[in-house]
Amino acid sequence: MAKTTQSFNAEIKQLLDIVIHSLYSHKEIFLRELISNSSDALDKLKFQTLTQSDLVPADHKYEIRLETDPDRQLLKVIDSGIGMNPEEVTQFIGTIAKSGTKAFGQLNQELKNRPELIGQFGVGFYSSFMVADKVSLHTQKAGTNIGTLWESTGDGTYTIDEVPRAEGVGTTITLHLKKFDDAEEVQDFTNTWVIKSLVKKYSDFINWPIQLRKEKPPKEGETPDPTKKEYEFETANSQKALWLRSPSDIKPEEYKEFYQHISHDYNEPSKWIHYKAEGSQEFTGLLYVPTRRPWNYNTKDHEYGLSLYIKRVFIMENCKDLLPAYLRFMKGLVDSSDLSLNVSREMLQQDRQVTTIRKHVVNKILAHFKDQLTKEREEYEKFWTEFGVTLKEGIPMDHANQEKIQDLLLFRSTASDKLTTLDEYVSRMKEGQKDIYFITGDRLETLQNSPYLERLKEKNFEVLLLTDAVDEWVTRDLPEFKSKKLISITKEGLDLDTEEEKQKKTEEKKSLQERFAPLTEKMKTFLSKEVKDVVISDRLTETPACLVSGAHDLSAHMEKLMSQMGQAQGMSKRILEINPKHAVIETMLTLPDDKQQTWTEILYNQALLTEGSPLPDPVKFSKMVSQLMTQQ
Ligand code: ADP
Repeated sequence: MAKTTQSFNAEIKQLLDIVIHSLYSHKEIFLRELISNSSDALDKLKFQTLTQSDLVPADHKYEIRLETDPDRQLLKVIDSGIGMNPEEVTQFIGTIAKSGTKAFGQLNQELKNRPELIGQFGVGFYSSFMVADKVSLHTQKAGTNIGTLWESTGDGTYTIDEVPRAEGVGTTITLHLKKFDDAEEVQDFTNTWVIKSLVKKYSDFINWPIQLRKEKPPKEGETPDPTKKEYEFETANSQKALWLRSPSDIKPEEYKEFYQHISHDYNEPSKWIHYKAEGSQEFTGLLYVPTRRPWNYNTKDHEYGLSLYIKRVFIMENCKDLLPAYLRFMKGLVDSSDLSLNVSREMLQQDRQVTTIRKHVVNKILAHFKDQLTKEREEYEKFWTEFGVTLKEGIPMDHANQEKIQDLLLFRSTASDKLTTLDEYVSRMKEGQKDIYFITGDRLETLQNSPYLERLKEKNFEVLLLTDAVDEWVTRDLPEFKSKKLISITKEGLDLDTEEEKQKKTEEKKSLQERFAPLTEKMKTFLSKEVKDVVISDRLTETPACLVSGAHDLSAHMEKLMSQMGQAQGMSKRILEINPKHAVIETMLTLPDDKQQTWTEILYNQALLTEGSPLPDPVKFSKMVSQLMTQQ
């Protein structure tokens, strides 16, 4: 391979521009990023040698070295990890592989407001350009003997060349440090004290030794020769896997730093759960609840799962077998003492021990949320606002834990602006109220003003207002809560009265039905294509008509969601309910047939609007209303 000059792709150029020109604070984090990459590279090498023991000599030294050179303004980060071959250098360093252009455009915007997101995007290496005006990366992949030298000044191009690497397998990053004005208050990254304190601050828990090169002090009585410097190495990190230390010895700052290391999220975590499980499976879990959603949450780029370690050896990150999708916001790791070191990804899925660990982890997380809900309601509500919609997916996904998850659900309701649990709802139920009522839809405001609430308001019955798409699946799979039925107020047969009230009303109902039978029959023929029945309503007080779904049919909102997902199953016909006490309906009794037909059509369209459905022919509807308005 001859030396070539290549251009960064457009995304990297934009990124470099942001790194060089917009990120002023926290310049020191570049060191954490580079050490983190080195640590990953050492993990990967170690993992590969589990199955390929001859990949490196048996006495291979797994370590990270940091070397400063104040005279030449250099800082080197050297590791003996897996290294990269020339293709990988181009692929990993020259492009942002993970992203589509569109996703990057979005990130670019976000970065302007929240520069801390940079770590999440897997652009750690580029943070070097915050402090260096030239960066070189010299690497050799394990199992090959080709050295690759990559260099760039961050100006839009880089060079790549084949250059043997004397140290063999591993990677050296050399930073040609920028000169900063004193006014910029940037630390001197060639000062070993500065570097040592940064390692302590950000990377103390790194599993591999971080060796810091220091000048040997002159021997007593000797005058040092400035042309012949002698060096020695000092291990700068304690190297103790944080999760294996006792929680009482770990400072909150250490937990937070470690979170940033594993999550690439620069926001502080909101909580951590650190525990040791004993019994059929021995493992240590360190689990974090983030404060905010990552920028790519719920896109296909979002990877989730816990990191898996076996006896301190890193096996893999984003292990999905350890975490169900409805807890995909959680970060953290599991270090097992029992799993066999030569597990493969494929084997993990069927591994019974892994299933046991996962069960344990899920229980622990759900118990944590229950505890937080009881003791730190405000904190829990913050969590809920960010991730509740994901946790709710547990109801349809994890039937075994349904009872635990249902206690964690929070809802908006007609009772107040506050969020409520189902238990709290039940405790507020009025005398004579049999069931838990809910309505689903797109917007809270629309639901709050929905005519479906009219009679319930009159009776002072509380209604849960559900606006997340997943609520349709939650209510489908949660027919009851502590032997109280969950009832949709947009379905037929809504039964709000007590036996006593019903008895009182029988007479009245009978006479209403008789009186309006000729009208409902006619309306039914006018709308024979649109609805399956027209009946007298008991749920309306102020609105003339509304549409309800059959008890076993999908709600209108669910049908809308299904059709948005391209899964429309043909609308099931609904039932039109009319309010016999409304003046419009009363008037209709006296109208000639042709007018009755027009009014029926208008009422039907209004009912569609009320439930949030589109009108089949809005122009025609509009004309009919205008005509009605001009008639005296
Ligand atoms: P991230 O580490 O978040 O993936 P980076 O831009 O820092 O993003 O690195 C991109 C990729 O380059 C890494 O995922 C890794 O594959 C490779 N890489 C970076 N540094 C090293 C290193 N010291 N040794 C081996 N590979 C590395």
